[in-house]
Amino acid sequence: MDKPVAALRKLPSVDEVMRSDALAAAIAQFGRIAAVAAVRAVLAEARKQGAAGSDVAAFAGDAVARLEAAAQPNLKPVFNLTGTVLHTNLGRALIAESAIEAATVAMRNAVALEFDLGGGRRGERDELVRDLLCELTGAEDATLVNNNAAAVLLTLNTFAKGREAIVSRGELIEIGGAFRMPDIMSRAGTKLVEVGTTNRTHKKDYVGALSEKTGLILKVHTSNYRIEGFTKEVGARELAALAHEHKVPLVNDLGSGTLVDLTRFGLKHEPTVAEAVAEGADLVTFSGDKLLGGPQTGFIVGRKALIEKLNKNPMKRALRVDKIRLAMVEATLRLYRDPDRLAEKLPTYRLLARPLKDMQELARHIVPALQDKLGAGFAVTTAPCSSQVGSGALPVESLPSLAVSISVNGRGGGRLLTALSNALRKLPVPVVGRIEKDALLFDLRCLENIDGFLANLATLQPPEAV
Ligand SMILES: *Cc1c(COP(=O)(O)O)cnc(C)c1O
Repeated sequence: MDKPVAALRKLPSVDEVMRSDALAAAIAQFGRIAAVAAVRAVLAEARKQGAAGSDVAAFAGDAVARLEAAAQPNLKPVFNLTGTVLHTNLGRALIAESAIEAATVAMRNAVALEFDLGGGRRGERDELVRDLLCELTGAEDATLVNNNAAAVLLTLNTFAKGREAIVSRGELIEIGGAFRMPDIMSRAGTKLVEVGTTNRTHKKDYVGALSEKTGLILKVHTSNYRIEGFTKEVGARELAALAHEHKVPLVNDLGSGTLVDLTRFGLKHEPTVAEAVAEGADLVTFSGDKLLGGPQTGFIVGRKALIEKLNKNPMKRALRVDKIRLAMVEATLRLYRDPDRLAEKLPTYRLLARPLKDMQELARHIVPALQDKLGAGFAVTTAPCSSQVGSGALPVESLPSLAVSISVNGRGGGRLLTALSNALRKLPVPVVGRIEKDALLFDLRCLENIDGFLANLATLQPPEAV
């Protein structure tokens, strides 16, 4: 209000800035409307700060910088150096090349999504992957929806709406991101009947809860925690027999649900979908983007009559997957026909099975480059660490790995490390690690593009002690 009027007058007009060379190029790139808005914003900012100046080129430069910043995608690639291979907040599984190609074809073209090419009639989209799913799991039939949360929701709603679902108290999981079994049950219109205790549930607990109101028995794989010590759970085989005696289905929510024996990658055994089917579960639900290594999807495999009912539920239409994901799912599942080469072709297993010497080799290049960049204020070394599978698979197993560890020489350690961690997250490709004790750790397991990583450091301004 009390800014000197003479100074305000010195600001160039919007038109003057728009006529500059820099803006001509920007208009061609970003469009006139966005360019005018950026110039107005820059001039308004200058006016607010009481800035004077008639340097048209400087205002034009600011406007172009604004346009460039606004054109950056919000969903950016990052370097996942957290050590968690399937990191939910970083998008879980990386997609195999063959699946990316299949998705690209599906995006660019009309595809026979619900079209029977033999008879020229309408087909079912699930049929595209049904046979593969049955072959890989030993199930009679299969369907797929948006994600495993949707698979569980659809299953409960189809078989236990207005009825009861029996679950052990030891299996009432929360996955995170608002997936809590009791909440899903209530949204599905199912009454939850909890049996047993947190650590011990017996067959007699299930028997006591079964009634004519029972819609199904649900077994949940406690995929993101483990209860140890004085424990007891009723196995799927025994539960299946009990469920069938009472003419209700047993549903096994496997969560991660791998299709291969993980011991072939040096990991601990995790129940496979085929095992869950063989144990007698009538329906098995599992995720597409956890250990399976595909896009976000929820699979339901099991008895034909039950899958048919799921497909007839109007909710299925609201939860179905699109052609792009179907293309990726099909290509990803095909890779499982050749398990010997999975670790080569599927990024999830490539990263999980990565030998320690790969990480050591990366460290040999990265440690000196980072030390050089950060200067004498920081100490860059390597440290043994453990990676995790993530996303609710093998929650207590850790994979021996190697980290680049950055600590601060001298005082102000905590503040400087936080500042460095922030600066690394602001790079063109943000670098995400973790601070543990007094060091910033970058687990190298998921770093594959080392040239890209080193080039990305070019604009890093290391924070300085004050
Ligand atoms: C992860 C998980 C879910 C949810 O699966 P999304 O694919 O993330 O929707 C449900 N149940 C279990 C046991 C899980 O581990």
